[in-house]
Amino acid sequence: MSAAATPGAGSAAESYAASRTGSTAGSNSDLTRTSAADLAALLTAGEVSSVEVTRAHLDRIAAVDGDVHAFLHINAAAIDTAAQVDADRAAGVALPALAGVPIAIKDVLCTLDMPSTSGSKILEGWIPPYDATVVARLRAARMVPLGKTNMDEFAMGSSTEHSAYGPTKNPWDLTRIPGGSGGGSAAAVAAFEAPVALGSDTGGSIRQPAAVTGSVGVKPTYGGVSRYGAIALASSLDQVGPVSRSVLDAALVHDVIGGHDPRDATSIPDAWPSMAAAARAGQSGDALKGVRVGVVKQLEGEGFQAGVKSVYHETLELMAAAGAEIVEVSAPHFEYAVAAYYLILPAEASSNLAKFDSVRFGLRTEVPGGTVEDVMGATREAGFGPEVKRRIILGTYALSAGYYDAYYGSAQKVRTLIQRDFAACFEQADILVSPSAPTTAFKFGEKLADPLAMYLNDVTTIPANLAGVPGMGLPMGLAPEDGLPVGLQLMAPAREDARLYTAGAAIEQLLEAKWGGPLWAKAPELRTR
Ligand code: GLN
Repeated sequence: MSAAATPGAGSAAESYAASRTGSTAGSNSDLTRTSAADLAALLTAGEVSSVEVTRAHLDRIAAVDGDVHAFLHINAAAIDTAAQVDADRAAGVALPALAGVPIAIKDVLCTLDMPSTSGSKILEGWIPPYDATVVARLRAARMVPLGKTNMDEFAMGSSTEHSAYGPTKNPWDLTRIPGGSGGGSAAAVAAFEAPVALGSDTGGSIRQPAAVTGSVGVKPTYGGVSRYGAIALASSLDQVGPVSRSVLDAALVHDVIGGHDPRDATSIPDAWPSMAAAARAGQSGDALKGVRVGVVKQLEGEGFQAGVKSVYHETLELMAAAGAEIVEVSAPHFEYAVAAYYLILPAEASSNLAKFDSVRFGLRTEVPGGTVEDVMGATREAGFGPEVKRRIILGTYALSAGYYDAYYGSAQKVRTLIQRDFAACFEQADILVSPSAPTTAFKFGEKLADPLAMYLNDVTTIPANLAGVPGMGLPMGLAPEDGLPVGLQLMAPAREDARLYTAGAAIEQLLEAKWGGPLWAKAPELRTR
C-alpha cells in the first residue's frame, strides 16, 4: 500500500484490507467506540498503546469503508507515527493531551505526506509542498492522521454527490446522503472509523453533515482557526473546525487547532479560553440555569420536516426544564441569507479557482498544437465537475462590470443586515438555537437534479458564516417518521465559542440522560467484511 492510494470507491480501504490479511475486523470495537477524551486517558495511563488504538481504527476502516466510502486516502505512515508516540511515552517524554489519538482529515486540507484533492479531478494525486497550519498543529499535538476524507468537489454541495470520486454513504442508512460538503469526515466519525475528524464550513459543511449523521460539529468564529493551507472555497466564509461524537471531544480538537496564526491575515490575534474547560463546565450540572436561549423564528416552519420540528421542540422543553430561559427572537433578514450567499460564494470561488490553470497544480490536458489558453480551457473542462462550473459561471457573471452593483453589491448589503440581525438577537439572548438542517438525510439523487433544492438545505447554517459567528451542531434525537438523526444548532456572538461548548455539553448531558446513553449507540450495525 502506498500513501497515494488511488482514490475511488472503497479503494483506499480495500488496499489497506488487502495488506492485512487475517485481520480481525471489529475485534477492537470497544476502542473504536471510545471517545478521544477517554482514549487520551487510557493512553496516558498506559492501558492501551497508540499502535493498538490506531490499528483498531484502520481495521474498522478496512471492514466498513468499502460500503461507507468516507476515505479517499489512508495514511500509510499511521502505524509508524503511533509507534513513535508509544516509544516517546515509554521513554518518559512529556506528551500533549491528545498524543496518540487518531484523527481523520478532510481532503480540503493540505498535507505534506498525502494527496490533497479537495474532491476534484483537477487535483488528483497532488501532494502539497506544505501542511495546513491545522494539520501541523495536529502533528505537533502528536495526534495520528488516519487519512483524508471525501467531500463534494471544492466543498460545493450538501451531499458528497459532487465528489469526483463517488459519494460517501450515511452510516445510518447506506441509501442516504451523509451531508456535505464534509460528508466523509462526519461519516468516518459516525461509522467509528475515527474518533474525531477535521472539516471545513463555508455555509454549513461541518454542521449539516453532523446533523444528518448524528455527530457533533463546530464552525468556529471566523478568524478563530487558521485557514492557511485550507484549499479556499470562499475566503470570507471558510472556517476549519472539529467533528466528533461528543461535545468535549470537539472542544479538545478545537483547542489543538485554534489560535492565532501569523500565516493567515484574517486570524484573530487574541488569546482564547480553553474550549475543553468550557465543555467540562457544561457537564457540571446546572450550566443552563438562567441562560437566555433565543429561538430564531425564521429558522423553522415552512420546508422543515415534521419530525425535525417535533424533536426540536422537545429539546427546547428539556432546556427550559433545566432552567434555561427560552425567548423568541426575530432575524428578519435571514430570509435573504441563501440568496446573498449564492452570490458571494460563487464570486469568491470563481476568483479562488482561477489558480487551477494547468500550469501550477495537478491536471494538465494537452492540446496538440494548441495555445496556452486552449490547454487551460481543456484542463478546466476535463478537471472540474458540473457544480464547480456552474458556480464559476455564476460568480464571474455576478462580478462582471455591468452587474457588480446589482448582484455582488446587493448581496454584501444583505450580509450587513444579517450581521445587524445577529447583533439585535444577541441583545435578547446569550445563545441562539435552531435545527441544524431542515430535514434528515435525504436519498441519493433526490436533490441532485435541482441545485436550488440542494442549496436550501443550508438555510439554517448559512447566516452564521455570513456574520462570522460560531455555530455548533449536536445530535438531539431521531425523527419519528424515519428514525434518522436530527441536529440542534447553537450560535453565539463572535469570539464566544466557549459559550457554545458549555451550553452544548449541558444539553448533551440532558439528552443522554433521556436516551440512557449517547445517540450514536442507537446507530445500526454496519456490515463488516
Ligand atoms: N452546502 C453549501 C454549499 O454548497 C456549504 C458548503 C460548505 O460549507 N463548504 O456551498
